[in-house]
Amino acid sequence: QGNVTKVEADGPVLFFCLISYLRAAGTCGIMYSDFVLYKQRSNAMKRYLAAAMLLLALSGCGSSGSSTQLYTTTEDFFAMDTYMSVDVSSEKSESAAEDMAVKIEQRVNQLDAALSRTQQAGDLYKLNHANGQPTEVSDDTYTALEKALEYAEMTNGAFDPTMAPLTDLWGIGTDNARVPAQSEIDEALTHVGYQNVKLLGNDQVQLLNGAQVDLGGIGKGYAGDIVHEMVESDTSDQWHVLARLSGNVEMYGGKTADSGTDRWNIGIADPDDNTDSIAVVSLRDGSVVTSGDYERFFEKDGKRYHHIFDPATGYPADSGLRGVTVIDPCSTKADALTTALFVMGLDKGMKFCEENEIAAVFITSDKQVYTTSKTGDCTFEFLGEKKGYTYAE
Ligand code: ADP
Ligand code: MG
Repeated sequence: QGNVTKVEADGPVLFFCLISYLRAAGTCGIMYSDFVLYKQRSNAMKRYLAAAMLLLALSGCGSSGSSTQLYTTTEDFFAMDTYMSVDVSSEKSESAAEDMAVKIEQRVNQLDAALSRTQQAGDLYKLNHANGQPTEVSDDTYTALEKALEYAEMTNGAFDPTMAPLTDLWGIGTDNARVPAQSEIDEALTHVGYQNVKLLGNDQVQLLNGAQVDLGGIGKGYAGDIVHEMVESDTSDQWHVLARLSGNVEMYGGKTADSGTDRWNIGIADPDDNTDSIAVVSLRDGSVVTSGDYERFFEKDGKRYHHIFDPATGYPADSGLRGVTVIDPCSTKADALTTALFVMGLDKGMKFCEENEIAAVFITSDKQVYTTSKTGDCTFEFLGEKKGYTYAE
């Protein structure tokens, strides 16, 4: 018991839970990546290690009582401009677990190269620098773009994969972060709009209107689905996987070999202190994704400027939220939606979730925690009282 996996998001990690976690192996029909390379957090590694240690401390005390032996390995690596850690358990051997973990790392790095805006050999870079000409991209990139456009439409543009000119302008997470002039924001916004991305078939893509694509809001989610698909399709073993792709957590196969004791507990961080959790959500399979205003940001004149932009204004979304967590079998969807829900704010976001049967947890600036209607076997436990949070059920 008490096995809390503390995740440090790219921002916050919050979270929540609910929903029926029916496996969804192909529910999302995709797989792939995200990133945007800009966070240069000198403290990131330190904090990551602190979080990892807390995790160890918490998990050290509960023996699972599983009767089937699991061989577990952990692979830590840096990809998509963030720290990632993948725990793989095999029911066969240590070397099987190690091989799978290495394969996962390689695949995520491959996705990173394709979807990065800054890796010049990658196809997103190629696309963004093609001066509006039709450009051939990899299957991964094409699929990620298809998904991005699907969620842009679903959220009425709150999620928009063409925010690149604004992410460049603000430079949040880089040494050049600044508040741009309104005229610069207005100019950048003339190139923004997911309708500017034309998928021409056969992996050909064209960008109109000087648009540039930024898949930072969906890439890690896409990677999570690919990881899930990799272990699900490999029937040579019975896999149990917990992948922490920064603030995106992907789970497969349950935590132990025995049913009944096989849920992972994922802590949702306190936005003001991400070494502590304000809630825990437990589930055995699927993804838990969080977006928040707390890791990639800078402050000027007492105001916080973070990395989730409102496409309607070109400013960091000022929606009264600190963080949003989505729990869904499809992590690409969860990733796009956390970003979109953060932009929408609590009222519109809640309504959107109820209409679309999305499981989500919202944390507001005034320390209220909201969850959507809970269903299925994902459990949510609120722990934030002593930190001044209220659970508004
Ligand atoms: P994180 O990368 O911290 O996990 P998100 O998934 O919310 O957080 O993605 C934020 C990133 O998505 C930004 O760094 C930027 O690259 C991009 N982005 C910012 N605003 C939007 C938006 N409204 N729609 C789509 N992508 C966005
Ligand atoms: Mg996202």
